[in-house]
Amino acid sequence: MRIGVLALQGAFREHIMMLEAIEVRAVPVRLPEQLSDLSGLIIPGGESTAIAKLMETYGFYDAIPQQHGAGMAVWGTCAGAILIADEVLDGIGGQRSLGLMDITVRRNAFGRQKDSFEANLDIKHLPGDDYRGVFIRAPWVERVGDDVEVLAKHDGAIVAVRQGDLLATSFHPELTGDPRLHRYFAQEIVAS
Ligand code: GLN
Repeated sequence: MRIGVLALQGAFREHIMMLEAIEVRAVPVRLPEQLSDLSGLIIPGGESTAIAKLMETYGFYDAIPQQHGAGMAVWGTCAGAILIADEVLDGIGGQRSLGLMDITVRRNAFGRQKDSFEANLDIKHLPGDDYRGVFIRAPWVERVGDDVEVLAKHDGAIVAVRQGDLLATSFHPELTGDPRLHRYFAQEIVAS
């Protein structure tokens, strides 16, 4: 199994380290051609507007949906969750998303940089209720389609969702060293 991490901007190195820690082959993806032999892709946190511009420049808006259609699972974390959503609220004018997942997300919903915080989360399908969520100018999910399963909430706001082979999380799962969510993606979503 090879899982790619979109390596245009943001916290891609940390995701690669997390995948390596659970013995999954991790590939930094800088060009669309590199998607072709991947079973899964992680779009990291960072700045969605910056990642979006680079995705446009390199042709990822065609390549990612195409590969997803061919069976590649996709996990968007923080900015990545914004990028895979059907609808983005509070985006900058004309901010483009991939429209893969039947959700509406609100950018910076928990406030600005100073409002970044950590909280323990109870994530469905994961053992324990103490998954440390690191929220950095995080979005939340404001609407979910019928096929979307809510995996976690924080203070009533939806922060983790799954729709088939798509996963979206508001927080940064690559920054705490806790491999549970990466393992869930690799074993239950990518490999299934
Ligand atoms: N607020 C950022 C954005 O709009 C997301 C922040 C993050 O990924 N930590 O892209």
